[in-house]
Amino acid sequence: MSLTSYKSCYCGDIREENIGEVVKLSGWVANVRDLGGIIFVELRDRMGVFQVVADPQINPDVHKVFNKLKDEYVVTVSGKVSRRPDDTYNPNLATGSVEMYPESIEILSESQVLPFQLDDGDNVSEDVRLKYRYLDLRRRPVLDNLVLRHKVVSAIREFLNGENFLEVETPILIKTTPEGARDYLVPSRVHPNKFYALPQSPQIFKQLLMVGGIERYYQIAKCFRDEDLRSDRQPEFTQVDLELSFVEQEDVINLMEKLIKKAFAAGGIEVNPPFIRITYKEAMDRFGSDRPDTRFGLELFDVSDIMAKSSFAAFADVIAKGGIAKALKIPGIANYSRKDMDDIRNLAISFGAKGLAWITYCEDGTIKSPILKYLSEAEIAEIQNRADAQKGDIVFFIADEAKVAYDVFGRLRLHFGEKLNLIDPNKNNFLWVTDFPMFEYSKEDDRWSSVHHPFTMPNLEDIDKMKTDKGACRSIAYDIVYNGVELGGGSVRIHSSKIQKEVFEALGLSEEEIQAKFGFMIDAFKYGTPPHAGIALGLDRLIAMMARTESIRDVIAFPKNSQAKDLMTDAPAFADEKQLRELRLQLKQVHTH
Ligand code: ASP
Repeated sequence: MSLTSYKSCYCGDIREENIGEVVKLSGWVANVRDLGGIIFVELRDRMGVFQVVADPQINPDVHKVFNKLKDEYVVTVSGKVSRRPDDTYNPNLATGSVEMYPESIEILSESQVLPFQLDDGDNVSEDVRLKYRYLDLRRRPVLDNLVLRHKVVSAIREFLNGENFLEVETPILIKTTPEGARDYLVPSRVHPNKFYALPQSPQIFKQLLMVGGIERYYQIAKCFRDEDLRSDRQPEFTQVDLELSFVEQEDVINLMEKLIKKAFAAGGIEVNPPFIRITYKEAMDRFGSDRPDTRFGLELFDVSDIMAKSSFAAFADVIAKGGIAKALKIPGIANYSRKDMDDIRNLAISFGAKGLAWITYCEDGTIKSPILKYLSEAEIAEIQNRADAQKGDIVFFIADEAKVAYDVFGRLRLHFGEKLNLIDPNKNNFLWVTDFPMFEYSKEDDRWSSVHHPFTMPNLEDIDKMKTDKGACRSIAYDIVYNGVELGGGSVRIHSSKIQKEVFEALGLSEEEIQAKFGFMIDAFKYGTPPHAGIALGLDRLIAMMARTESIRDVIAFPKNSQAKDLMTDAPAFADEKQLRELRLQLKQVHTH
């Protein structure tokens, strides 16, 4: 049987069962070794490597060609598979007990010396690997990640197809999306002065698919967000995007748990839903984060009531002004030096704290702290009791606005989790965070915005609060968190024009703004809208975490670097004068090529 005109099977697939068979193989020369006249070549294709040998005594014609081979030449050989002599048997290789003395060989293409050695790839700078990504892809670890990605995506598709979902493509040149990040804009040539936006997600279209009666939609969707790049963001990324009609939060969660189980199984990782669920409020109170890493303890606790009544004015004042006092106990660090403590304080300040207080429970049973003098015996005893503090522990305190106190301790908690080696990297810890707030206030812009997006359903119990107490209004939005990382999120959507209008009003949008931005959506919702809900999972992050790699670039075939540049094609690039003229665009700064 022949696979193609160039190969009857893959190099990496040959096993002892094939001994005696005549096969035709094609691939790259991974390695050439001339051992006293006998030349050994490792031939590589996508499935692995296979050893081919030329000996002037056995296959002299082939040997002559072997003499010309260099790394990464592409060749095709044919001959009979044989058993390797015992002394060259390689137990570390799937094809380690077989080889071939080809009867014929043809060089299909030559290769220059590569800019970097493939087997040294881990030591090569990422910039070089990205510039020559097509060579980097020949390396096993990079290929393995793409294989994993393919398997997981296939499993997801298979699962959703089996659940009656339709895979539907939504447009890339669109108006604008409501995710709240900055849009990428594409100037229109046909409509001067007008721009398309690239979708930050298919949000609007997937909801309109529900109005259109599709009922169950999914897409492995490319999304684009022009955000200031943090080290591990990509300007374009992929989401597993879903929307369902006639469902509630419970239905989405149940379906996703099944999907996640299947997706992880495809990556060889067993996970066991149902996952725990905690509310946003509980997540913040206990872990200082809306994506808590619950692989370790170190939970925060509240001391606002104690501090409010204490004579520790710095704290009591903050609480009187509406702030909170939180505490975090770290066991076994009471012997930290003064410098260690300064470092921690500085770390807390770099996280946004104005200061950090602490009580040390020394090994000798004494209690030391710069703040003891402000606290009564009873207050000290209550703190010790609440913290369940033992010899060797230090309890840290922060009083600030809730947001700041949570954030600083959330990050300090992670710092200690890592530093004290409390995180088991083999754990697979999933949880749902529910009941997110509906709105958040931005001091900078002095306005309220949606925490999720403006189509998210408010909790019906809180609907009056949209007018009276926006900050306390909960939404029916949920996030799935995996080992302390937000893997995805979604919400039940508003399907009543009346509630939608109230939400837009709460966001301070005028009638004109609503019409201009979302008029078509409001119109659509007037023609019979099913209750619907959805979710999106970040595929790149999901695969990176399954592959246990830090960077999502490792699981994307052609990623941008951390400055949003494609080092291989050198995008973004200047446009031609002619293109700019056609688009009626004039650049302010004259560019230099
Ligand atoms: N469109 C949302 C996002 O990209 C997900 C959703 O609500 O389904 O985060």
